[in-house]
Amino acid sequence: MASALAGNRLMTSVASKQTQCPRCLQPDGRVVDGHRSVCQRCSKSLRRVYQFCWACRREWPRTGSQAQGHACTLPNCALRAALLSEERIIDPKSAAFSCPFFRACPNCKELMTHNGVGCRCITCTKCYTEFCFHCLRKQYCSSTNKTCFIVDNSAALQSL
Ligand SMILES: [Zn+2]
Ligand SMILES: [Zn+2]
Ligand SMILES: [Zn+2]
Ligand SMILES: [Zn+2]
Repeated sequence: MASALAGNRLMTSVASKQTQCPRCLQPDGRVVDGHRSVCQRCSKSLRRVYQFCWACRREWPRTGSQAQGHACTLPNCALRAALLSEERIIDPKSAAFSCPFFRACPNCKELMTHNGVGCRCITCTKCYTEFCFHCLRKQYCSSTNKTCFIVDNSAALQSL
């Protein structure tokens, strides 16, 4: 139930706004087929067709059997797409209020979200590591912890 909800939310958020080209960072990439998108601007400057995946924002494979496909086969595509989502937790009663909706477990990279109940710390469903949804450190942070800040997902994305 919770994961189905997360999946639906993800589909609507990526379909509406994430066609940003990862190379020139302009938001006018055009979807060719499925995940495969093309940037006219980069194609012009590179003098070849520049294709990218709009979900994980990486260049599309240029050779091999995947080059003409419609589903992205780059590693961690769905995970990166979720972490790139700009959606935030907007329920002011949630312990994770204003955090990004999706987090990767700092230990095993499993995709997680906070159900809003309890404290800001959650336990990974895969490796059982406990971590703080705000600062992503593997520790318990109380709501009065002054060293705990809401971080974005950029460090997690870089480690993928
Ligand atoms: Zn571009
Ligand atoms: Zn992808
Ligand atoms: Zn984990
Ligand atoms: Zn924390």
